[in-house]
Amino acid sequence: MSDKAATAQESLEALLKEARSFPPSEEFRRQANVSDPMIYEAARQDLEGFWAEEAKRLDWFQTWSKVLEWNAPWAKWFVDGKLNATYNCVDRHAKSFRRNKAAIIWEGEPGDSRTLTFEALEREVNRFANVLKSLGAKKGDRVAIYMGMVPELAIAMLACAKIGAPHSVVFGGFSAESLRERINDAQAKILITCDGGWRRGGVVPLKANADEALTGTPTIEKVVVVERVGKAAQIAMKPGRDYWWHELVANASDQCDPEPMDAEDMLYILYTSGTTGKPKGVVHTTGGYLVGTSTTHRMIFDIKEDDVYWCTADIGWVTGHSYIVYGPLANGCTTVMYEGSPDYPDRGRFWSIVAKYRVNIFYTAPTAIRSFMRWGTEWPAKYDLSSLRVIGTVGEPINPEAWIWYHQNIGRERCPIVDTWWQTETGMILITPLPGLTATKPGSATQPFPGVEAEVLDGKDRSVGPGAGGYLVLSKPWPAMFRTIYGDPDRYVRQYWSQYDGKYFTGDGAKVDEDGYFWLLGRVDDVMNVAGHRISTYEVESALVDHPAVAEAAVIGKTHEVKGQGIAGFVTLKEGIRASAKLKDELKQHVVKKIGPIARPDDIFFTSELPKTRSAKIMRRLLRDIAEGRVLGDTTTLADPAVTSRLKRQYEEEGKGD
Ligand code: ATP
Ligand code: MG
Repeated sequence: MSDKAATAQESLEALLKEARSFPPSEEFRRQANVSDPMIYEAARQDLEGFWAEEAKRLDWFQTWSKVLEWNAPWAKWFVDGKLNATYNCVDRHAKSFRRNKAAIIWEGEPGDSRTLTFEALEREVNRFANVLKSLGAKKGDRVAIYMGMVPELAIAMLACAKIGAPHSVVFGGFSAESLRERINDAQAKILITCDGGWRRGGVVPLKANADEALTGTPTIEKVVVVERVGKAAQIAMKPGRDYWWHELVANASDQCDPEPMDAEDMLYILYTSGTTGKPKGVVHTTGGYLVGTSTTHRMIFDIKEDDVYWCTADIGWVTGHSYIVYGPLANGCTTVMYEGSPDYPDRGRFWSIVAKYRVNIFYTAPTAIRSFMRWGTEWPAKYDLSSLRVIGTVGEPINPEAWIWYHQNIGRERCPIVDTWWQTETGMILITPLPGLTATKPGSATQPFPGVEAEVLDGKDRSVGPGAGGYLVLSKPWPAMFRTIYGDPDRYVRQYWSQYDGKYFTGDGAKVDEDGYFWLLGRVDDVMNVAGHRISTYEVESALVDHPAVAEAAVIGKTHEVKGQGIAGFVTLKEGIRASAKLKDELKQHVVKKIGPIARPDDIFFTSELPKTRSAKIMRRLLRDIAEGRVLGDTTTLADPAVTSRLKRQYEEEGKGD
């Protein structure tokens, strides 16, 4: 084949790839929880009826008088309903045929493990709920939690919910300063932490960080410390303030009545990832949240009674709240919790866990999938992944290349992929395939969940046509929606509800294709304007990642005298590939071929790492600051601040990357 013919062949292939569609197999469809497409129409015609039916799967102490009271932007779901989240997640299962079923299967980083049945979990939760009461926690008091991924983390959350004390979980990878900020914002009375956490064989000094944070937190009265690493952490206990978890629970009763909560009582506060700026304290309430998370969990992951379900997120993020703890446990589902990282002790760790517990449903993030791609197919190939039935992703748009890799190497071309779009604020998944119904397309989160109404609008509340980019907006309320920003209701209104009348502004860009499928384009700030063309950073990134040499890419728009914005790409290469000027040109050319000359990057900059939030999302705003020579914005949510300062220096030394 001549060069020209080869190129033509390749672009044809690329085009076909985009149009590829993956319907569920007949075999999968037949066994799926949801296989009737009428569900969408039924929910559209009777939104409240749809959710009321789902709500009946929970146990209510008092049933609601009204499904929804909607005075935009203020929502009340299941008005006058009374229930308890922990009763629904634990107690009722412990009293049923599920009492000896595994509720939590925990895998520790050094390889230790623990299984808690529903009955055992109930006892542990009750003991700790009584401990919290004895330390002075009452209904409505906020409890901060700063722990690693140990079973006590889930126990602590459920104990809080049992007594009606909202928890505020702060990811264990955060610094003392970030912890202090969040404790003070939530005005928490009690802090629960660990002596330390295991991370790649090393120790994360959780208690030492907490001590530092506590020098400026006037509201904290008591601290409970879980012993996890023992002698590996040198910690000090402050008499009268600090108590060991194991000493307190040893004397606590394992009986505790659930606090009857109003459906609208606060279940928890959780701070967003901080990808776009200062994190917001998102408030979730009890009834609607539990209905929304349990329904989506059961339908989207096609949960069956004897499934083992594993979501690899950290409970410090909303994904862990909704889809490790509350959604799965409300459904009486076995949920796996893993303490460590995917590459310790080796790069096959995740797959060895899938094989060990015969995991049926696996839910992870695109950033993890891109790492797996970089590490090579030999790692998953070594393990028996035949137990898997559904695999999912969340957190960022998934590049089609990564989607195909996931489909082939993890799903073994057999498992439907659910690419789930949602936010801390939305509480539950809102745009997603239903695995028994939806023909998926690589890179598309497909369609709004039944009862959810999403639109793509221009700046003036007008729908943009098929294929055109715009703002993703939600036009109907949904049960797990957040109710406010803690302590800042004005910000709730201003940031989310003032752009479009009575509609929720997501802050994300999207487009809808001819088939009505949604394609998420990243945050509105991440959409570039190049010579009058709106190009999404995600599209250019996907074109770069499509090149065989590229592991990961972050693209930003930077001020350009002529075009308004020019395109700069920060690229990490696959292992063993050398950076060169020739490769830069090749990558620029590759983008031209995939998207068109308008998307040709002005600069390509090779780097060994990209700045990411602690939830592992690429932080493009910092790259924009670097590229435009500005002072770096809020960096408190960065996973590794050193990466950014290194990159800034390197960028300045090499000029603008060319
Ligand atoms: P902050 O709001 O503090 O800037 P954040 O938006 O990253 O941080 P999260 O609530 O954790 O905080 O993330 C939600 C965002 O993640 C969504 O708005 C969207 O941009 C992105 N996202 C999540 N899932 C998907 C998905 N499946 N496809 C595309 N984007 C996704
Ligand atoms: Mg956000």
